[in-house]
Amino acid sequence: MNKKRLLFASSEVYPFVKTGGLADVSHALPRALNNSYEVTVVLPLYSLIDRSRFAIVLLDTFEVTMGGVSYTIELHGALFEGVEYRFVYEPLLCDREYLYGPPESGYEDNALRFGLFSYAITQMVRTEQIPLVHLNDWQCALVALLVKEDPEIVSKIVYTIHNLAYQGVFDPSVLGQIGIHERYFTMEALEFYHQVNFMKAGIAFADSVTTVSPTYAKEIMSPEFGCGLEGFLHVHRRKLHGILNGIDSEHFSPVADKALVECYDSAKGKKASKSDLIKRLGLKGVTKPLFVFIGRFTHQKGMDILIETLPKIAELECNIALLGEGEEGYHDSLNTIAKQYGNVSLTFGYDESFSHRMYAAADFLLMPSLFEPCGLNQMIAYAYGAVPVVNKVGGLADTVKKFESYDPKSTTGYGIVFTSATSRSLLLAVKKSCELYGDKKYFEEIVNHNMKCDYSWVESAKSYDSIYTRLIK
Ligand code: ADP
Repeated sequence: MNKKRLLFASSEVYPFVKTGGLADVSHALPRALNNSYEVTVVLPLYSLIDRSRFAIVLLDTFEVTMGGVSYTIELHGALFEGVEYRFVYEPLLCDREYLYGPPESGYEDNALRFGLFSYAITQMVRTEQIPLVHLNDWQCALVALLVKEDPEIVSKIVYTIHNLAYQGVFDPSVLGQIGIHERYFTMEALEFYHQVNFMKAGIAFADSVTTVSPTYAKEIMSPEFGCGLEGFLHVHRRKLHGILNGIDSEHFSPVADKALVECYDSAKGKKASKSDLIKRLGLKGVTKPLFVFIGRFTHQKGMDILIETLPKIAELECNIALLGEGEEGYHDSLNTIAKQYGNVSLTFGYDESFSHRMYAAADFLLMPSLFEPCGLNQMIAYAYGAVPVVNKVGGLADTVKKFESYDPKSTTGYGIVFTSATSRSLLLAVKKSCELYGDKKYFEEIVNHNMKCDYSWVESAKSYDSIYTRLIK
């Protein structure tokens, strides 16, 4: 069979670079599509990427002109786990300490950096005549405009919104620098409250727009979740689809995870991981329920509620371990709490292997997110037998059912679900979790049920496939 070429563009891809779920998706979805399409994944070759570890080699150089300035782009390549990768290198884009800026902030010249990335991608699409292009988030959204306005290119574009809270909004003075004509500075295109909005280019010019869960697809057309784009998304609603993310079931598998002290395939097998983590973190009481939080310390992830509630949770018979990084104010508040309570452990930073050990050790995963486009943590938690405790929004609403309605015949996972993002609701949910944990047999049954659920990419990849097929027909 002659497979169609598909270019999948993303600003981060695991295992090369990762700051969050986008990297996981950009690793796993192309792998899942690789049987049906000839997939090439393109990302920036940040200086943080270990070129020798992944045998990344220089393939080509070409010139790109953006805003009247000429840039020399190096195109590098590697084959990893059967998927072709292309890396765009240019010092302005790549030679930085962070991908986008220090945690929860952005470099001032990000419009230029990712504008340049978008021009390089467009050049690839043009020269290689790639029929299908899948763009992700604001960092490559401009490609949709550049491709659609270029009469030489006939490619179809799918644009995926992973998080509407990050739209790539800049001062209008960048328009000239990124070589975008002022005629696009309109409500129908890039203008957004007198600023330039990259994400709007993706939404306006793509042939199909997707987001990462069916509930989030509905939510973002409301003022509460739309981040100012609700009206614009409503205008484009006919091409908007919600497709649930999956997780890479090989990478997130306690049966064969080298990061773990002991692999396991059922609730009982978690003991070694829990004892190890409790000891390592200086906590006490392996028989007490262990709650973990893994993620960015941001408003989105419910940090304000969590910080408000943490002292009350710590008064209960349980242990709490947090791993993450984010805004400084949250770090300070968390430090104060951790100093006061011996059963609260805090680890700052980003550590993939350690996060796996935490999922393996945990009885419960806390996710009091105020909004959650999809969320991968709850699905990873299922795989490792940690029961998610979630606020019912976005993808959490689509993936976590109330344990009170537990049905062993169901194929979806169960957790503790609350429906208002308040400290009171979170505390009640944690108390409920402790009660559930007390009913050992029932708790273990739910853990074992969740571990067997399929949250792989198989079904979701089919949904993307049908969108691509419709577009290229
Ligand atoms: P986000 O909104 O941050 O993209 P997701 O739930 O979609 O959230 O994905 C988060 C991914 O990043 C998961 O794989 C999670 O385990 C991982 N992760 C988040 N914070 C950390 C951390 N501090 N260390 C290791 N992994 C982390």
